[in-house]
Amino acid sequence: MSGITYDYMEQYIRSLIPRSEGILEELEVYAKENSVPIIQKEVGKFLELMINIKKPMKILELGTAIGYSAILMSISSPVKSHIVTIERDENMVNTALENINKYGFKDKIKVIQGDCLEVLQKLEEEFDLIFMDAGKGHYNHFLPHCLRLLSKEGIIIADNVLFKGMVASRDLLKRRKITIVKRMKTYLELVSSNKELITSVIPMGDGIAVTGRRIINE
Ligand code: SAH
Ligand code: MG
Repeated sequence: MSGITYDYMEQYIRSLIPRSEGILEELEVYAKENSVPIIQKEVGKFLELMINIKKPMKILELGTAIGYSAILMSISSPVKSHIVTIERDENMVNTALENINKYGFKDKIKVIQGDCLEVLQKLEEEFDLIFMDAGKGHYNHFLPHCLRLLSKEGIIIADNVLFKGMVASRDLLKRRKITIVKRMKTYLELVSSNKELITSVIPMGDGIAVTGRRIINE
């Protein structure tokens, strides 16, 4: 039970997605065997579509893990995009670098080891797509930095925003997750109420929120 949508719905939607091949399939197997929380298939498909529509030249990812979503985004890109991805766990960084080198993504994906908040503070370049997938309890703290780094027509895609349904239902809320859930709600309220932004929250995977700037009078 994902706590987000009906199991039969999730299974049906997933069944429509063709099986991955090559690198992605290998990484999916590794992630399953080693309990690495990579994006769900339907979220991967959503990212692929967004990247095809937006054609972002520069992508920022928070949370590399083994490099699965970074590689998926790189493969999905119809343009020569460059990806910067942040990960604090040293073992994950090493595994991600191995995968990135092994499969030939060295020139396309740059991994920065460190805490997202610290690294974000130091970043200066603009990004056309920001994929937030690390530190669920800190999305609200990452947001001001992400908005500073986001290009005019850029979008932020945040994963896990409904957090097993806990964000929307008290009945599902676990005591020790109260702080994370509170902060996630703050994130969703901030991106939803800010008149300069447009946000769509989608009950897919573990919940995703897509945010862009409102473009006025071009
Ligand atoms: N995006 C990946 C999965 C990321 S899982 C994929 O779909 O393939 C989340 C990762 O974020 C974990 O590897 C965890 O170590 C890392 N993480 C969690 N909090 C972090 C933080 N504050 N700064 C940097 N990395 C963090
Ligand atoms: Mg996630």
